[in-house]
Amino acid sequence: MIETTPQTPRLDRARELLQHTFGYADFRPPQERIIDHLISGGDALVLMPTGGGKSLCYQIPAMLRPGTGIVISPLIALMQDQVSGLRQFGARVAYLNSTLTPEEANRVERQLLQGELDLLYMAPERLLTPRMLNLLQQSQIALFAIDEAHCVSQWGHDFRPEYIQLSQLHEQFPAIPRIALTATADEPTRKEIIQRLALQQAKRFIAGFDRPNIRYQIAENDGNARERLLRFIRDEHPGDAGIVYCLSRKRVDEVAGWLQSKNIEALPYHAGMDNQTRQRHQSRFLREDGMVIVATIAFGMGIDKPDVRFVAHLNLPKSVEAYYQETGRAGRDGLPANAWMIYGLQDVITLRQMQASSEADESHKRVERHKLDAMLALCETTGCRRQALLGYFADPLEQPCGNCDTCLQPPQTWDATVAAQKALSCVHRTGQRFGVNYLVDVLLGKGNERIRQFGHQRVTTHGIGGEHNAGEWRTIYRQLIARSLLAVDLEGYGGLRLTEASRSVLRGETTLMLRKARKIEKKSRRQSQHNQQIKAADHSLWEALRKLRHDLAEAQGVPAYVIFHDATLMEMVESRPQNRQHLALISGVGERKLEAYGDDFLDLLQKFGQSRATRPDDTLEETLRHLGRGLDVEAIARERNLTLTTIYNHLTTAIEEQRLTLDEAISIPPDQLRTILFAFERYGAEGRLKPVYEALDGEVDYGILRCVKATLT
Ligand code: ADP
Ligand code: ZN
Repeated sequence: MIETTPQTPRLDRARELLQHTFGYADFRPPQERIIDHLISGGDALVLMPTGGGKSLCYQIPAMLRPGTGIVISPLIALMQDQVSGLRQFGARVAYLNSTLTPEEANRVERQLLQGELDLLYMAPERLLTPRMLNLLQQSQIALFAIDEAHCVSQWGHDFRPEYIQLSQLHEQFPAIPRIALTATADEPTRKEIIQRLALQQAKRFIAGFDRPNIRYQIAENDGNARERLLRFIRDEHPGDAGIVYCLSRKRVDEVAGWLQSKNIEALPYHAGMDNQTRQRHQSRFLREDGMVIVATIAFGMGIDKPDVRFVAHLNLPKSVEAYYQETGRAGRDGLPANAWMIYGLQDVITLRQMQASSEADESHKRVERHKLDAMLALCETTGCRRQALLGYFADPLEQPCGNCDTCLQPPQTWDATVAAQKALSCVHRTGQRFGVNYLVDVLLGKGNERIRQFGHQRVTTHGIGGEHNAGEWRTIYRQLIARSLLAVDLEGYGGLRLTEASRSVLRGETTLMLRKARKIEKKSRRQSQHNQQIKAADHSLWEALRKLRHDLAEAQGVPAYVIFHDATLMEMVESRPQNRQHLALISGVGERKLEAYGDDFLDLLQKFGQSRATRPDDTLEETLRHLGRGLDVEAIARERNLTLTTIYNHLTTAIEEQRLTLDEAISIPPDQLRTILFAFERYGAEGRLKPVYEALDGEVDYGILRCVKATLT
């Protein structure tokens, strides 16, 4: 069913603002309904994924309603960037926080009283001071926007006590519309937000959670996580901005230092550093292009840098919510981005132990346990990661996504019932107090001193595990712990115990299918998807535009992205506007920015001249450019008025020249691809296509077969 869009004069004004001020062609679907609702004075609860465009939902109503919109945001460190970003669009914005001098604060307060502000940002603790409340009573308020609203939830993962008091807003300003926004909220958190902020009457706007531009990849740690991280950054994200999450401060320092020694511009960030250094690192990450920040989870909330191209986890997050929120910091601009994680046995053991020994009460512990179990299930799934992730948020995805590691490279499972029985009985026979390394030694029949000391060379499980090597046994143990078939001791030595659930496996009542350990492909993708898009366009113009943006930003002391986003620059590369009218058509170029930067950018664009795409000999390049914009084969053929065969031929050439991988060129569901590959194996002798085509009942286009074949040679 197509959602009907409200058409009201209110919305016409909103759309005009969107187009002229912000420079965007149209609203995204939920935005206009939210904006309409708010302008007309209603309360709203908005759940929208990161990058979905939540900010406009309150910025535009605040600019259109009489008075000032008060934005409550938890992190004062980021307010300045938020405000300078909005000023670029010509909005009248300010913030109030402890970084201002009393004179500066006084000036802002006067502006508020005199109705000279569209938006005013502040932290909750400031808002709720008697002085501020008094000031607000005397001013005209357009609305209250409560950003990161999940901070009000005690069960959520970012609880902030100051948020609790925000229920007062409803009592003190019953007539002023309130909008609460968050990107993460499972059902219990959502209920808590409604209850604590007294939003029972609010209309709920819940957008899907999917972030289709993020590619999820989760791999087992085989002991060289750091090297693999380095390879991942070098192969897929050279020169890109990214965040690397580690569990401990020590690890943060170590990983940052190691990346620096490998010539990656990496900076550490954690709570153990002095405030000033931490601030400096955060600000460099925000302002400079292509920095990598290595951080504990303390980093990132409220970071709205749009061009973070990857988020890497070297440790397991505690919950799916945390994973979703942390990975969500990648690709806010909608361009392709990677969420990459490595986890291993030690993560599972450490987190289980931390939980078991925490001081929290039993019901809290139970919640935490469920959350970790769900996270582990996501790691161990043999199905599509995105389906598992969205399923957790009750936002089911019908088909496997084709853009996660399990879709792109389906994992194999095996019947591990017997191996699990051996592993579990080894725990039992040795008295349920030893850790994995010891148990593996016993299974492999080692005769070291420790084993002899305990007399375990005589237990029946000694030496019965020769069919697997030590690494494989560790993988098996990890999965048994992840599935709660083994529990970790409370004392912190990593000793394992049987659980209620292990009995039925030991008795042979359940068949246990486990994931096969998988070596991540050595074959490196030569370039990130993103870089490939650029390459297909024009690298030198892209670099020149980035340089110009950097210089303009530096002159004003603002982050580069507040001048223009990558997506906007990319569109300039593609369409190469040569005059103001054409430049104004580019998404992200509003009136104020056109005025401020139009001439600089046009000068540069004119130097590079018209698009090469207009030259006839560049037809392959033109196809790749369209592909880079996200069009599929059919759409490219239509747009270029060429046959499908021609477009497939271009793609085949690009694959042969290793400029594209198969999944970048065309999208085939993984099981269909398997069928095709099978047909090639059986019937494709001497590279002949016709027998393959026939074996597939003529259902797969020759063009697709040619593309697949190009990957086989
Ligand atoms: P969120 O707060 O939901 O994470 P933002 O409000 O920061 O997301 O928006 C994400 C990006 O999308 C921003 O760069 C914003 O300028 C852009 N954006 C928002 N709405 C639109 C729109 N209607 N058209 C084009 N771009 C948009
Ligand atoms: Zn998938």
